[in-house]
Amino acid sequence: MSFSYLTHLHCPKCLQTYPSDKIQQLCECGSPLLADYDLESLKRQWKPSDLAGRPNDLWRYHELLPVSSPEHIVSLGEGMTPLLPMDRIGLDMGIERLWMKDEGIIPTGSFKARGAAVGVSKAKELGVQELAMPTNGNAGAAWSLYAARAGMRASIVMPVGAPLITRNECAISGANLNLVNGLISDAGKMVGQAVNEHRLFDASTLKEPYRIEGKKTMGLEIAEQMGWELPDVILYPTGGGVGLIGIYKALHELAVLGWIPDRLPRLVAVQAEGCAPIVKAWEEGKPESQFWPDSSTAAFGINVPKALGDFLVLEAVYKTNGCAVSITDAELLREQGTIARLEGAFVCPEGAATFSAARKLRESGWIKDGETVVALNTGSGIKYPETVQVEAPVLQPQDRMVRL
Ligand SMILES: [Zn+2]
Repeated sequence: MSFSYLTHLHCPKCLQTYPSDKIQQLCECGSPLLADYDLESLKRQWKPSDLAGRPNDLWRYHELLPVSSPEHIVSLGEGMTPLLPMDRIGLDMGIERLWMKDEGIIPTGSFKARGAAVGVSKAKELGVQELAMPTNGNAGAAWSLYAARAGMRASIVMPVGAPLITRNECAISGANLNLVNGLISDAGKMVGQAVNEHRLFDASTLKEPYRIEGKKTMGLEIAEQMGWELPDVILYPTGGGVGLIGIYKALHELAVLGWIPDRLPRLVAVQAEGCAPIVKAWEEGKPESQFWPDSSTAAFGINVPKALGDFLVLEAVYKTNGCAVSITDAELLREQGTIARLEGAFVCPEGAATFSAARKLRESGWIKDGETVVALNTGSGIKYPETVQVEAPVLQPQDRMVRL
């Protein structure tokens, strides 16, 4: 058996194919490229029981990942995050079987570690020495740290408004960090220019084909953790949307392998009301989104006014009979507190948005009685300390504790 069953890359827009044994960025037509595997051979040679006894990280699925040789793996132990029952908040919103896939407990504290681990490993295998990317914070932090582990140089451009800790993560890992007085789209233009001028590897969202393969492992894990039965609904906070595209791709591949039923969960793209291009496109039944002007939200990771892979996100939503929902900042911040109080989980604002969306969809009847629902928490709340307002009495050493 091969370590990886990767065969080639293809363009989902114009269907052109590309070899996967050299560096590829976008298709000539400007679309992202997707990785293809020899699923027919894999179906004959691989079964769920083969996973037993493998390391408890995302590399346990190496046949469905793009790295050809184990010596190129750059790992900090990422993957196989907990799938936690959320009974008390589930009861609070009338969803009997509510689960949280908790990506807060992963190296770098956000789900971006998955894309970085697989993306950096494959880049290393292909001989990349220096990468560049724009980021809303967490991806830049993860790619900086994984690049450092790989001995690769990284240039990162992020908005000055991005979470402060992610700046520190880039800086301490030795990345070349630039801050921009603007949005991720402005950072993206600067990176594009630098990539052309200095011939760097462009690690921007979906401009290289392997970050999505790392994100895909969230879908593989949910399926394995549920015993190859699937939930009815998966909610996902959607900025660039790579995770949603990845989960859809994972489930599609598992269905071809015959490991899961053909009927896929309804996928829900959750956005903030201050930046909801995918929701608008979905409401209008369109295949692509429009640039969202003056976008703003406390859930910084999903402040993406126009995603390169928007058409793939919308396809995943349409094909699974899912939907797209937007949440106000007030709703998601309130939900963040409710989750912490009822479940003891300090989730990130983006993760809180998925719970708000579940609450809304249950109220409207879109989530039905008895359905199993998985909400994706994409990162740890600890990375966003500024979202919590603390009012606590300050005492002198001789004072008595105040008990409210
Ligand atoms: Zn193309």
